[in-house]
Amino acid sequence: MERPIRQLKKVLVANRGEIAVRILRALRELEIRGAVVYSEADRTSLPVLMADEAYPIGPAPSRESYLRGEAIVELAVQIGADAIHPGYGFLAENADFARHCEERGVVFIGPSPAAIAAMGSKIESRRLMIEAGVPVVPGGKDPIPDLETATQRAAEIGYPVMLKAAAGGGGKGMRRVHRAEDLASAFRAARSEASASFGDDAVYLEKFLERPRHIEIQILGDHHGSVVSLGERECSLQRRHQKVVEEAPSPVVDSELRRRMGETAVRAAQAVGYSNAGTVEFLLDTDGSFYFLEVNTRLQVEHPVTEMVTGLDLVWAQLHVAQGEPLPEDFFEVEPRGHAIEVRLYAEDPARGFAPSPGVVEVLRWPEGPGVRNDCGIEEGGEVSIHYDPMLGKLIVWGADREQALRRLDRALHELRVDGIRTTRPLFQALLSDPDFRAGAMDIDMLDRKLAAGALVLPQPRVERDLPLVAAALAHCEVSGRLAADPDGGADLRTRWRRRAREAARGGGTWN
Ligand code: ADP
Repeated sequence: MERPIRQLKKVLVANRGEIAVRILRALRELEIRGAVVYSEADRTSLPVLMADEAYPIGPAPSRESYLRGEAIVELAVQIGADAIHPGYGFLAENADFARHCEERGVVFIGPSPAAIAAMGSKIESRRLMIEAGVPVVPGGKDPIPDLETATQRAAEIGYPVMLKAAAGGGGKGMRRVHRAEDLASAFRAARSEASASFGDDAVYLEKFLERPRHIEIQILGDHHGSVVSLGERECSLQRRHQKVVEEAPSPVVDSELRRRMGETAVRAAQAVGYSNAGTVEFLLDTDGSFYFLEVNTRLQVEHPVTEMVTGLDLVWAQLHVAQGEPLPEDFFEVEPRGHAIEVRLYAEDPARGFAPSPGVVEVLRWPEGPGVRNDCGIEEGGEVSIHYDPMLGKLIVWGADREQALRRLDRALHELRVDGIRTTRPLFQALLSDPDFRAGAMDIDMLDRKLAAGALVLPQPRVERDLPLVAAALAHCEVSGRLAADPDGGADLRTRWRRRAREAARGGGTWN
């Protein structure tokens, strides 16, 4: 696994949106040439504009573009790229892709194909962790052949239990069972869902934990046998098991628990000879016990909160490790400083059940000022496409403590301007008024419970100061007959007038 030091000169980014931008930034700082692939839908996207080189890879649907692993590796070879950074999603956790890179002499910026494969199967990783002495959620480690065995195992574990697909991911093939009489139907449903999603109907049983927290540890390994923990992230605020707000450190993890979880995560990583960046996910039970859930073998969406409290650059670190360099000394004793919070800004309308809100972002102004970082993949005038993940970007704040971070988040959300599409901003504003969130009293079901009970009060969309001006402008156009005469029904004229009116309002004094 030892890797000779080899300076990277050109890296191909096999991704899009904010993570492609994030990686290109690190490449420029390290004076490594940055190339990107792009689909037809992303022809004029921010990563394409920022990259040193950009190559079309196919039509908009991911299957025909960003998921074309072989074509992407061939392109890397053709353009003389030394390495591929997969970002997250798409090909990032595809062991065959990582192997293919290796075979073609292109460095895959991530762990080995074997480590990816071992962590890709829930049952296999669970078995490996038990062997390595890492605590896993109490339950079985073998697939369950039939209903009789399921009934017997569930009784041994004690209800409530969780059925999980061995090959699982994305919450597929997962079923909570609260009572013995519900087991038969849940077992059938989990199996058929697992079979349909993964072509493998193997399921196993574990204890269902009531209201645990999701706490994960950022790890980093080099090619010289070292793995370090860079501390935890609190990711309990989830909607339907998808993270929406992440923090570092966790409000409930003290230095002793951090040390124990860190050591356990390192042990988990060493069990599979882990290198590069990864995340070991744990469930933290209400009694303080923690259990291994899975390893994400890539850079995570929420990596910036770790960067904000450690002062480290994880993409720099990934690139150095991929060059074969040993981890620097200052990675071994990392303590969090201050508090960071990230919110994921999605093109979804929380007032309408989080309905997708794709379209052109007519106005986009990210907040600035002390302790604010924006990781964004789109520019004003850019489009949120229906083809990809609807995340516009991430807003990250840092404060000397959690209270200051919360206040900054409030202030930053107030400054943020997005027009043309709906976003999840009102959800975060509602959370900031929620006493449980303010107190840091989260668990993985809290957000869903509050949403179901209508317990979060979404603020009304802000009425813009310039709206009267827009109305006046439109009235003028209509009177003069220009809208009617316009070939596209005046859509373009309307946009231009909105912009003009906004500029006028801006010139007229304060923005809010
Ligand atoms: P997937 O890989 O399909 O996303 P995970 O095993 O990572 O599945 O679990 C997804 C989410 O389901 C976790 O973040 C947690 O919220 C919940 N979960 C998983 N296992 C349990 C369990 N044993 N008890 C309670 N909740 C669980």
